Amino acid sequence: MSIRVRFAPSPTGPLHIGGVRTALYNYLFAKKHGGVFILRIEDTDQNRFVDGAEAYITKTLDWLGISPDESPSKPGTAGPYRQSERKDGYLKYAKLLVKNSSAYLAFDTADELQSLREAAEQKGGRFIYNWENRNRLKNSLSLSADEVAELIENKAPYVIRFKSYEKGRDKSLSMVDKIRGDVVVDTSLLDDKIIVKQDGMPTYHLANVVDDHLMEISHVIRGEEWLPSMALHVLLYNAFGWKTPVFAHVPLILKPTGKGKLSKRDGDKFGFPVFPLEWDKETPGFKEAGYLPEALVNYLALLGWNPGGEEELFSLKELVALFSLEGITKAGGRFDPERCKWFNQQHLHKADSALVESSLAQLLQQKGIDNASVSTADVVGLVQDRLTLLTDLWDEAYFFFVAPVEYDEKAVRKQWKEETPQILSAVMNSIENAHDAQAETLSAGIKLWANENNIKLGMIMAPLRIALVGALKGPNVFAICSVLGKAECVKRIASAIDKN
Ligand code: GLU
Repeated sequence: MSIRVRFAPSPTGPLHIGGVRTALYNYLFAKKHGGVFILRIEDTDQNRFVDGAEAYITKTLDWLGISPDESPSKPGTAGPYRQSERKDGYLKYAKLLVKNSSAYLAFDTADELQSLREAAEQKGGRFIYNWENRNRLKNSLSLSADEVAELIENKAPYVIRFKSYEKGRDKSLSMVDKIRGDVVVDTSLLDDKIIVKQDGMPTYHLANVVDDHLMEISHVIRGEEWLPSMALHVLLYNAFGWKTPVFAHVPLILKPTGKGKLSKRDGDKFGFPVFPLEWDKETPGFKEAGYLPEALVNYLALLGWNPGGEEELFSLKELVALFSLEGITKAGGRFDPERCKWFNQQHLHKADSALVESSLAQLLQQKGIDNASVSTADVVGLVQDRLTLLTDLWDEAYFFFVAPVEYDEKAVRKQWKEETPQILSAVMNSIENAHDAQAETLSAGIKLWANENNIKLGMIMAPLRIALVGALKGPNVFAICSVLGKAECVKRIASAIDKN
């Protein structure tokens, strides 16, 4: 069997990370089996269409390195890949179902249905349009052929409904979900879902099943929220006489508390993004928050899928090699922002330093800093291992490019002693006269002087750091000296002696 899977989002806004994970699982599964990963845009519901959402989805998949093999912008032979461009084709399939008695035209007006609903509610029940009452309602099963013809002639609006169950048939429908196992549904409890709306447009269910069939989708891997639709979809496949794909319903991503589905509000409340890229100013993205795509991919892959073994850090290629639908867990995965950060830190430390360097170069350009005497490569060499998020970069690196103007008051109060100016003058001389600016040379020179003069290193290191950085932070102080160069160190030390 050739493997073809699809990610089928509706372009109703930015893609939530739950959707991102569904896309990722589809991608991993396709690549693992040498199959095809398709992006299909389900945009039949024009009321919910949001401008820019499709472009956002494409940009996200590209950023994560999981671009589809076939999509609206990269069509294969199964196109078009937007349902709005396929809309003329669906009615034909609905008519096939009407013809083989699996579906019917329903002329009930919105008001009529509303009063039926209210009447049922008054009796403490719920109105369901299905096998029990369809013969008493206004449709092509209850009306004569002439009446139906007349209504159509008079342009009476109608929808097409699917017969979910018919008296005399076996009620129970047994299905298999690759993640949940056996699923049995009593089809007599289902309603007759609308498959074509009054405007002639298909609903999600019809369009989705028809397209999965026409695009020869072998596996439907999608969010758990679609599990309740699985019975209807299987019934539709059966009614058409088509082979059903394999279904796999992926569990939800849960709030950090473990209770309920992760929402945008959780992100706002706890200060972490739930969208891959920035959508607008109120909707930040992981990218802008300093996450690497490979870290997000790694974290999301493991949030609901167990690769077996102890190892947790994987590249996309390694994930592809390990992935299986069987490893997806039944229970929802709790989103843990701290753990997500940890994955980012690990990937950031392993990342190509050229990437961090180019981020740094960008920052310098944005800030209009042109400091040619400090090598960005040297700075990155010292700070890359100190980053958790790429956005930490400036905070870890600014002092290599900007000399301190102010000094951390608390640090000065604690570390600046009466003899500090004198000691720092000697340190300054030692640096100035060192025969090179290697960290080891500078460190050896200063330590020798301290030893000869019976001065504890503690009296030197903290004030020296304050003089160079402005605060008690940063990597090894001699490494900082070395990157700054002798002249800049001398300048900064002299200035600190002057100001403190
Ligand atoms: N358009 C549906 C969604 O937005 C697709 C569900 C499916 O994959 O079948 O999630």
